[in-house]
Amino acid sequence: MFLISDLCHMLDSYLEEDQVKEVYRAYVFGADAHEGQLRRSGEPYIYHPLAVARILAELRMDYKTLMAAILHDVIEDTATAKEQLINEFDEEVADLVDGVSKLTQITFESRAEAQAENFRKLILAMVQDIRVILIKLADRLHNMRTIGNLQPEKQRRIAKETLDIYVPIASRLGMNNIKIELEDLGFKAVHPMRYEVLQASLLKARGNRKEIIHKIITAIDERIFQEGLHGRVSGREKLLYSIYQKMRKKNLSFAEVFDVYAVRISVETVDMCYRTLGVLHNLYKPLPGKFKDYIAIPKTNGYQSLHTVLFGPHGIPIEVQVRTNDMNKVAEAGIAAHWMYKNTNDAISHENSQTNEWLRELLEIQKSSGNSIEFLESVKVDLFPDVVYVFTPAGEIMELQRGSTPVDFAYAVHTDIGNTCIAAKIDRQLVPLRTQMQMGQTVEIITANSAKPNPAWLNFVITGKARTHIRHFLKNLQRGEAIVLGKRLLDRNLTPYRLSTDTLNPENIDRVLETLRLKNIDDLLSEIGLGNRMPLIVARQLAEPSIARNKNNRKKSQKAAALKNMLYRYAPSWLGGEKTSTPLAITGTEGIIVNYARCCRPIPGDPVIGYFSAGKGIVVHVDTCTNVRDVKKHPENWLELRWEKEPQREFPVEIRLEVTNQRGVLATVASAISEMSANIENVSLDDRDGRITDLIFVINVKDRKHLAKIMRRVRRVDEVSKIYRQKA
Ligand code: MN
Repeated sequence: MFLISDLCHMLDSYLEEDQVKEVYRAYVFGADAHEGQLRRSGEPYIYHPLAVARILAELRMDYKTLMAAILHDVIEDTATAKEQLINEFDEEVADLVDGVSKLTQITFESRAEAQAENFRKLILAMVQDIRVILIKLADRLHNMRTIGNLQPEKQRRIAKETLDIYVPIASRLGMNNIKIELEDLGFKAVHPMRYEVLQASLLKARGNRKEIIHKIITAIDERIFQEGLHGRVSGREKLLYSIYQKMRKKNLSFAEVFDVYAVRISVETVDMCYRTLGVLHNLYKPLPGKFKDYIAIPKTNGYQSLHTVLFGPHGIPIEVQVRTNDMNKVAEAGIAAHWMYKNTNDAISHENSQTNEWLRELLEIQKSSGNSIEFLESVKVDLFPDVVYVFTPAGEIMELQRGSTPVDFAYAVHTDIGNTCIAAKIDRQLVPLRTQMQMGQTVEIITANSAKPNPAWLNFVITGKARTHIRHFLKNLQRGEAIVLGKRLLDRNLTPYRLSTDTLNPENIDRVLETLRLKNIDDLLSEIGLGNRMPLIVARQLAEPSIARNKNNRKKSQKAAALKNMLYRYAPSWLGGEKTSTPLAITGTEGIIVNYARCCRPIPGDPVIGYFSAGKGIVVHVDTCTNVRDVKKHPENWLELRWEKEPQREFPVEIRLEVTNQRGVLATVASAISEMSANIENVSLDDRDGRITDLIFVINVKDRKHLAKIMRRVRRVDEVSKIYRQKA
């Protein structure tokens, strides 16, 4: 049992006598206030704040922090008011206690909401005094150490919150010791089974390991001693959580993670760090590309060290960290080292005061910006440099890569949500799907059952998950559509032979598949649909042997087939003939396998032709489009098309208007267009000479008739002097 006498004994080593007395006085006050209260374990309540103070004393925090730590639950859990603390102690201590209470006090409707709101409050709390966070972290650490006394459900919730919120904060503050312990305890509570299994493997593996690590340490120790460098060499145990993380992230086995040995060397000066490194690289061969100099360029949380990886005996990889004793303090205690130094006056050299600098900057921003919004922004960016935390409408926190969009978010929530998402709201406002989400926003995804991923999303999603799923979906979709189109194209080309894909001789199919090195008929159809194989040629290959079988008819049939083929290819439409010789009909619902050229924007009613674009399928152009003039010279590349009678969708078309500059003309024209029930997809302006302006609209129409009606209506607007359809 850790008692107040033990704490005072600890404090004697680094605090003034009257400061220790003040801490004791706080204890007496706290013990009195909590009198009669018990923890779930059955011990008197005061043991908890005492244990919190101990954690902070180990970090050598100042005496006011320790007083506040001992008192941290009195406002929250007893009848004590803040004013009493001001009277009894002082404003500083009272503010600290108040700050910690405010973090704890907040109660909410739902747990999800509580988690989200706590997160914001935590960061806000830093605005007043960073020591509030340190006390809260110590409080959380002790609660995690004693979490076994709670219900399993509550354990999991608290542990998850710890991993989601407190661990990243401890990490940003450089408080590595607290961070790794929180991680380990959190892991144990969230995944007790996995923890147990890993622990068992760890205990088993440790035996063999001892000898090897001892050998390595001795070898290094002897060598640096020979070189006149005095340092402390120690082996580093990997914690379960970091082993678990590595196994998951890098998909490694336990042995693969565990077989990496880790050594730390502490020396006195910076100069000795580099000399030690030189000695090490002489002793064992360094792994190329693994050396990192965090002394010259410290991490943002103030961490400094030299990192390298060596090939040890028998090729065992050894991870080595070399740093000074002072750097070691910062590496373990992070921002708390700042107070350590203030209290003991044993100067931590200034080169490793990066964290202090960060803190000073924070305080400066806080002072200069009266309200905390700007401050909050910079803190958030600083705390989580590579991630953005956003909230689901239920208040659940989602962690995504910085720069993620609502589509990334949707896929992070669930693949089905990603695949069917059509729109997004950020903080209740509709936004384009390509919008980059900012820290703390609430994101809502609107879905529709019939919706499908849009290939354009690939231009802006940044998470691997979203990218993979969109690609996968499109590939399946494209294949499905390609097969349908391929079948239609092939059937049409088989008609002259009086054949169809359904009546083909299976032997012929197999033979053709074999020569083309394709697995099955679907592969063949998809190849045709994608424009990788010409249907005309495939049809001939499929038909010929069946003609050959009937030798008598062979020549005759071939001739007939060739003639029909020619007729179909070059016959004017009035010739009629068989129905199937008419051009391929398009409906507009073929999906991504049929594309409409953006240069001429064909709409139903336009004479159109299509050409094969390998791997993409058919691109539809207006017959007169200048971009297909060359293609037309090579008849094997293009395809006569016609429109299905009633296409099931609308098509974009571009119209250009010349208007005299009158205020409000844009609105008048736009309303005329929508009066004719056409959607405006885009509008741009082209100022000619200040008097005349060109308006360029992209509108969605059903067909040419629809477009003609719209143009007639728009022409009636007085300010419109000219209107025409824009075609390449
Ligand atoms: Mn507490």
